[in-house]
This record gives sequence, C-alpha cells and structure tokens, in this order.
Amino acid sequence: MRTSKPNGMKEKIKVKDKEFSVFIQAADIDTAVSRVADSINQELKGKVPLFLVVLNGAFMFASDLLKKIKIENNISFVKLSSYTGTRSSQVVNELIGINEVVKGRTVVIIEDIIDSGLTMRRMLDILSEQEAADVRIATLVFKPNAFQSDFKINYIGMEIPNDFIVGYGLDYDGFARNLPDIYKIVE
Ligand code: 5GP
Ligand code: MG
Repeated sequence: MRTSKPNGMKEKIKVKDKEFSVFIQAADIDTAVSRVADSINQELKGKVPLFLVVLNGAFMFASDLLKKIKIENNISFVKLSSYTGTRSSQVVNELIGINEVVKGRTVVIIEDIIDSGLTMRRMLDILSEQEAADVRIATLVFKPNAFQSDFKINYIGMEIPNDFIVGYGLDYDGFARNLPDIYKIVE
C-alpha cells in the first residue's frame, strides 16, 4: 500500500480563491511528452529545426521535451505581448524575443496549451511574414471543443475537455506554474 504520492502530489489544492483537483499526473505527462518527442525525432530527421518556446507557460514542457530531442536544433524563446493601442479598442500583438533568423528554417513552435487558437493564429501570422520554410506546432494540451481556428497542430501531447487547468507551467493569476502535475478547476 502506498501511503504517500510519488512526488508529494496532493489530490486537492487551493490556488488563491479557487479549488483544483489533480487531473494529469506527472508520469502521464512524461509519457505524452515522450510521444511528442518521438514524433518530432522521426519526422524531422535530417532537418535542423528552430524551436520557438512560447513563454511563460511552455517553459516546463519545453524543458522536458527538448531533453528528449535527438536531432540537431536551435532553441529560442518568444513571448506574444498584447497591449492596448492608443485607441482603447485596438489590441496590438507583437512577438518579443524573435532575434533568430527564421527565413528558410523549419520552425517548431512549442506551446503549453491551445484553447480557441487565437493566440497561435496571431503567432503564425507574424511568423509567416518572416518566411520560414516550414512552421510546425507542438502543444502539450489541446482543447478541441474550444478550438475556433483552422491551422494544423502537428504534435499534440493530450486532448482535454474545456476545463481550466493549472500546473506544469500553466498558471492561475501567476500562481501554480511550478507544480509537476496538472490540476483542473473544481467548479
Ligand atoms: P487561445 O488563444 O488558444 O484561446 O488561448 C491560449 C492561451 O490561453 C494559452 O496560451 C494560455 O495562456 C491560456 N489558457 C487557455 N486555456 C487555459 C487553461 O486551461 N489554463 C491556463 N492556465 N491557461 C489557459
Ligand atoms: Mg501560453
């Protein structure tokens, strides 16, 4: 009989004012990450991809995923800023940190989660201006029922229903990013 969980995981946690229950355990996340890494290693054999890690949320997924990548590669970190323009209704996005030369490269965007897909759509639009040879997307989590876009997601760690989750890089109001397991909100 096991009296304590492998990594000190708790069944239920409180983050600020909300309650969350454990949803995907670290071992299952690791299995999903390995599957994504295997696909990338196979499909991109012979290429030298540029991995673009989308901060902040994807940092933990990227760290575990990239340790399992066997092909030659470059890694860079980007952030999609969104700020309100001079007119309050106008939202302007900008990709911060994209100093690498994207032109002609095989680019793999590493994201934590794709929900409606609007954030990724914007990233793809910005990147297309930079003439990458091939842009691929790797996301740890995908919410198919929330997806409102049309782009192809090449590598998906796992699909989940429309629940709000935290942990493994994902935050609630800046908290809970460090947790090794993924938790979902208790409504
Ligand atoms: P989208 O533009 O695809 O609707 O949303 C993408 C962004 O919304 C993600 O990068 C993430 O920041 C946030 N997001 C969407 N679903 C969740 C969730 O379940 N938990 C957390 N913590 N963030 C989420
Ligand atoms: Mg994100």
